[in-house]
Amino acid sequence: MFSVTFVGTGAAFSKKYGHTNFLIESNQAKLMIDFGYLTPIGLEKINFDLQQLTHVFISHIHADHVGGLEELAFSAMFSYHKKPHLILPGKLKEPLWNNSLSGGLELSSDESGQPITCCFEDYFDISEIDENWFELDNIKIKPFQVDHVPGKESYGVIVRDQETGKQIIFTCDVKNKLSQFTTDAEFLDGIIVHDCQLLNDGQGRVHTPLDVILTYPESVLERTYLIHYGDQVDEHRHKIENTSLKFAKQGEKIIF
Ligand SMILES: [Zn+2]
Repeated sequence: MFSVTFVGTGAAFSKKYGHTNFLIESNQAKLMIDFGYLTPIGLEKINFDLQQLTHVFISHIHADHVGGLEELAFSAMFSYHKKPHLILPGKLKEPLWNNSLSGGLELSSDESGQPITCCFEDYFDISEIDENWFELDNIKIKPFQVDHVPGKESYGVIVRDQETGKQIIFTCDVKNKLSQFTTDAEFLDGIIVHDCQLLNDGQGRVHTPLDVILTYPESVLERTYLIHYGDQVDEHRHKIENTSLKFAKQGEKIIF
């Protein structure tokens, strides 16, 4: 058994709905799927103490998915002295540290105030994974590559209960229709949490327009939550009124 809480449901620059990141709670593990800079606020809203967090999975490097890691790293090192476990596709490790986190985390000081240079592993236990199942407590997770920004490594992730086989598929940020939903055995069942851009600009530059998602077959729509939407979502709710699609709600919890 595990649960999923939508800590945030908004687009990158949402001022209302937080960042599209998820809290997975299994028997022992408390895993975040992505950790944007608004995520500490989102966790506070659902009364989740950051100290309880054991693992973070990273899908790709944008601030609404990794921007809170500096706060997590410093809090873990200096406040509660517990190293979080970072799980990420191997190709993300070097750019995450060199292009994003090192600017804030590399230089620090020891107890006597002397300068020290820290590395990624000083702050996190790190597991680099490939596109195979990674077992974690009573669940397992598996990343799959998606198109988001041209040339940028980006992944969705499946989370599955090891006993019951029940699963949830997070597209994370994705540009195009995912054909796997109707062809690949691993995607044929389970809840789908799908990136959704409200305004249509053709096929979407870096996200999937709602109009494109509406062309999915009913067998996909009926198990899909829309997420990563903009603050003007209320103006677009009528578009899904006669479908089985749902907009995910911030703070909503699903138990598997
Ligand atoms: Zn992104």
